[in-house]
Amino acid sequence: MDKPHALLLLRKKGFTLVEIMIVIMIIGLLAAISMPSYKKAREDARKALCQQSQRVVREATEMYLFENAGAEDTLIKRSLRDYFQDNEIPTCPSGGKLQITRPRIDDIRVRCTYDNGVHTLDSYE
Ligand SMILES: [Zn+2]
Repeated sequence: MDKPHALLLLRKKGFTLVEIMIVIMIIGLLAAISMPSYKKAREDARKALCQQSQRVVREATEMYLFENAGAEDTLIKRSLRDYFQDNEIPTCPSGGKLQITRPRIDDIRVRCTYDNGVHTLDSYE
């Protein structure tokens, strides 16, 4: 093998700094583009999970009030543990607190305190 040909083979082995920088720039650009949609998808999933928790807590509250007519509102949340597996009341995955209110005697509402109620259901279907 003559010397110039050996040098050519040696040069072809790696990437130049410019090539590596271009690849890193493209990866960074893709990450920057996909990050907001990833965050939105994650928050949408948490909101859906929280709203499911609100439905379940509301149904448990209805069952509790059916079995304990005239119960004090302050006792409801403590007593709800009996209606869930391992006595764990479902919670908000984003860290909000689920509040149970009864504007009227037959109207039970569950509201999530996260981000000023952004998870709270508009209505129960
Ligand atoms: Zn929530």
